[in-house]
Amino acid sequence: MAARRRIVAGNWKMNLDHAAAVALTKDVAAGAASCTGVDLVLCPPAIYLEAVASALQLADGSSPSGVTLGGQNLHDQPKGAFTGEIAPAMLVDVGCRWCIVGHSERRTLFGETDQIINTKAKAALAAGLTPIVCVGETLEEREQDRTAAVVTAQIDGSLHGFSAADLAGTVIAYEPVWAIGTGKVATPEQAQEVHALIRSRLATLTDAATADSVVIQYGGSVKPDNAAVLASQPDIDGALVGGASLKADDFLAIGKHFGAAG
Ligand code: PEP
Repeated sequence: MAARRRIVAGNWKMNLDHAAAVALTKDVAAGAASCTGVDLVLCPPAIYLEAVASALQLADGSSPSGVTLGGQNLHDQPKGAFTGEIAPAMLVDVGCRWCIVGHSERRTLFGETDQIINTKAKAALAAGLTPIVCVGETLEEREQDRTAAVVTAQIDGSLHGFSAADLAGTVIAYEPVWAIGTGKVATPEQAQEVHALIRSRLATLTDAATADSVVIQYGGSVKPDNAAVLASQPDIDGALVGGASLKADDFLAIGKHFGAAG
């Protein structure tokens, strides 16, 4: 098995204000040295990206804490008459290396289909960003025993036309919708089962070595007290964290658990 990087990303969603975003960034940066063996990523609201970038960086543009920056969403076109949207290169311009694509809130509240997610993920790659492509079943789909079919269809649709190099530059986040923001975390066995299924599907889309190298994060009510057991699963390589990423101590504790399991 490949030694995959561990990546813990914080999705701040539409929370915080300018001062709170900067304060949280500084607290995470100050504690990041205690998280070895894991990459920490902050995904603030777009309007605070520059403030977070400058809170992470020295004047020469370096990020001494090693914490990096991601967007929560992007448009698939490079520029033009798309009021309110953000082009991939604009995210790069303010210091992003990552972008969440196809979060379940984007799928359900903003009508994003696998096809839209596919074009966005390709646009992210073309701009030099690593897309964090989200998939996951609803509670109803799980109860109907359709988890494997739903997640497989999301993987196939979202990654349609990806080369092995594209896939190697992509992170997958498995986020069961019923676990997001609900406090109901998937059991490690439930999560591992779907992560293994995703990895084997990635192998059929490209090849086993590429699939083995892809970081697959778990997301859905990850907290300091459940992170260690999730991190101990062989195919869980990190976490996409919502609520707990708004508290520096909790986010850093999650990062430590994943780093320690690497
Ligand atoms: C998320 O929004 O991606 C998420 C996993 O949220 P939470 O950790 O709050 O469940």
